[in-house]
Amino acid sequence: MVYRWRARSGDFTVWSASREETVERVKTYIARRNQNRLTQEGVMVGWSCPYCDRRNSAHDEHVALETFKQHLFSHKKPLLESGVHVADDINGTGSIAVLSPVQSTGADNARVHFLSPGDVVVIVTTTPAARIDLLRSKLSEWPEWTVILTTKEDPLEGLSGVQLMDIPVEIVHLDKQMGLGSLTETISRVLEEQQEPGRKIAFEFDILTELIQKAKLQRIFKFLHLLTARLEDVTALSHFFVNRDRMASSMNVLDPVFDMQIKADGALFLQE
Ligand SMILES: [Zn+2]
Repeated sequence: MVYRWRARSGDFTVWSASREETVERVKTYIARRNQNRLTQEGVMVGWSCPYCDRRNSAHDEHVALETFKQHLFSHKKPLLESGVHVADDINGTGSIAVLSPVQSTGADNARVHFLSPGDVVVIVTTTPAARIDLLRSKLSEWPEWTVILTTKEDPLEGLSGVQLMDIPVEIVHLDKQMGLGSLTETISRVLEEQQEPGRKIAFEFDILTELIQKAKLQRIFKFLHLLTARLEDVTALSHFFVNRDRMASSMNVLDPVFDMQIKADGALFLQE
């Protein structure tokens, strides 16, 4: 569960497990929108509030900006909520594109956030050991069952102190030459096996950036369309990582298959 602040206009939302970081990001957002209220007055930097008649000034530009941000936030604090989940916006079911490098703090925070509602966790990844390590260290307890689909020969490579037989994790090996059609079939079979009434499935897909680099966008669109429909059938909550710097134009094309797009940046999730 995290904090959320959403602009009344709806065009900016920030979520974070850290209240402090949420507030700091909101202050920056509001100050930017009211930049014209910050003016040089001789040797002083002054500001006037757009919401009330408060004015202030300081010699130091940084001090002026901080008091301005603090004051603006006092008007917008009621929009700060706590105990929410990003997926509340889509009633806990659906597909979310997470724009972030696959190996990053932001991505790991997204994993913890989107996998923790799952009784069963299904992950498609090239780094199974890192995924197992994250589940082990960051979730309060192991999910009831975890299925990791991977092409990696030795899925536990580099992970010490863990034996597959001791943890509730199953590995499904994928053939490196496997086409998108067979991948959809394999994932569908796993989802079908794991589906039970009242059992929530959380799904993570790490390899979308690689797919976009290798396959035609039209084929990926079709693949995602089928896959997200299948995930929807079993009321899963799914997230798909895409490297935001390299994939901006591809994501414009793929956007319709997702219910939501967010950016993961350090401790923050953003929609802007
Ligand atoms: Zn004011």
